[in-house]
Amino acid sequence: MSQSLASLQRYDFLKELGIGEVNSGACAGPEDWADVSGKELLEVISPIDGSVIAQVGLSSEKDYDHVIEAAECSFQKWRLVPAPKRGAIIRDVASELRRLKEPLGKLVTLEMGKIVEEGYGEVQEAMDIADFAVGLSRQLYGLSMQSERPNHRMYEQWHPLGVVGIITAFNFPVAVWSWNAMVAAVCGDTMVWKPSTKTPLCAIAVQHILNRVLKSHGGGGIFTLIIGKGARIGERMINDKRIALISSTGSTAMGRRVAEATSKRLARNILELGGNNAIIVAEDANLDLATRAILFGSVGTAGQRCTTTRRIIAQRKIIDDLVNRLVNSYKQVRIGNPLDSSTVMGPLVDQEAVETMIKALANLSSQGGKIVYGGERLKGPGNYVTPAIVLVPGNTQLVCEETFAPILYVMPYDTIDDAIRLNNEVPQGLASSIFTESLKYAEKFLSAVGSDCGIANVNIGTSGAEIGGAFGGEKDTGGGREAGSDSWKQYMRRQTTTINWSDDLPLAQGIKFG
Ligand code: NAD
Repeated sequence: MSQSLASLQRYDFLKELGIGEVNSGACAGPEDWADVSGKELLEVISPIDGSVIAQVGLSSEKDYDHVIEAAECSFQKWRLVPAPKRGAIIRDVASELRRLKEPLGKLVTLEMGKIVEEGYGEVQEAMDIADFAVGLSRQLYGLSMQSERPNHRMYEQWHPLGVVGIITAFNFPVAVWSWNAMVAAVCGDTMVWKPSTKTPLCAIAVQHILNRVLKSHGGGGIFTLIIGKGARIGERMINDKRIALISSTGSTAMGRRVAEATSKRLARNILELGGNNAIIVAEDANLDLATRAILFGSVGTAGQRCTTTRRIIAQRKIIDDLVNRLVNSYKQVRIGNPLDSSTVMGPLVDQEAVETMIKALANLSSQGGKIVYGGERLKGPGNYVTPAIVLVPGNTQLVCEETFAPILYVMPYDTIDDAIRLNNEVPQGLASSIFTESLKYAEKFLSAVGSDCGIANVNIGTSGAEIGGAFGGEKDTGGGREAGSDSWKQYMRRQTTTINWSDDLPLAQGIKFG
């Protein structure tokens, strides 16, 4: 019996989600999966124990063109469907996600390694943004303006953009796609999704859900899927003139490449890139609250969230107390199989991630860093490590890099201005927090001379954003915004319209011509 067949029997939820032993990696719409025969097969390995879960046929150039053509063709019709009717279809997507929350959440855990509670949370997030998009489908408002010309009406309206390319990272294999796709769908766009090759099965399972819903509404390639390497399929997408917007989530290096290619062809992009998030803990902070928030922010998802707490900037008077509390909390973290509901921290995504973490820690002492807890590789199958707490004098070169692993750097500060400077000193600008009971500290942190990040919180950690707000960050994080607020505007084109209902032709600025 092959290993992947054994997985199908061991994890019965895979069948419920339509995952087979060998899966097609390209889908242009309901009942339009690419043929797998003759394709290079990608082995999908679970970080839990290193076993092969299933195989996926990597997409060919021909599959790619077929998928893009399907998305282009569907756009011609989808853009004419009234937005609230598009919303009604997304409501059905939300219902189907709700029905399959448990198996899909478990698949997230099996394939990516986050604990099952977070796997369920990720599907919940997809449902939440779908619900948000349903409401949004009746609220794609444009402004009406006062014309300076008599008997003229001026207003703006929003039209669908076209085909949207969604490139996603491994660490949120369902949620990040949904932030983009649910909103873009009600805006009238069609989608091509390229997931990470580390988590293709989640994308295939979601595509099955979408296909079922779309089939019940008459089909169409509104949501399509293309699985392949970034250097090949990803590159084709970012250089493809048929794709109006590339929304990409991943490392800063990848984002730079996307920015370069899309700028060259003057296409739009949304860049959601790496973070290096800090929590400032002031001398008057509620340390119980701060410790709990830091623990979730640094150890949750085994330190593999873009919003993971990577740096603690602690006031010198309380730093020892805080570090003691953190070490005690870290000692109680149960590390193990993330499908077991008592586990708090699962494995890293792959062996390469473990190597990167170990290498970063080995380079610490040369930069004045000192490990006070953890940082070991655990023996046995799977990619398990103990999370590390490291004391550092400030933002050393290593601290400025985003090591995508559970390493928490702790550094001291003296004044609130120092703390804000340290918060802002790194190249990235995603999430930031302050724990304080002082109104002055909190307001300064949130002011124009405060945090330079896209997300700034008070007495809440850096990780665990709600979908209602616009999500994203500044500087090397890319400047993009996704999910709530008015992020939808990026998936539409704005048209400014002026109607003259007079019998004259007055010119703007009072210009007399001829
Ligand atoms: P990655 O950059 O290795 O890959 C992300 C995606 O980009 C994958 O689908 C990959 O195939 C694709 N890709 C790679 N090269 C490409 C190219 N030349 N052209 C087009 N596509 C290409 O990132 P990862 O390891 O999967 O994810 C971890 C990173 O993602 C971290 O840096 C994390 O902070 C970031 N992230 C950011 C956010 C956010 O919202 N800011 C959310 C999640 C993850």
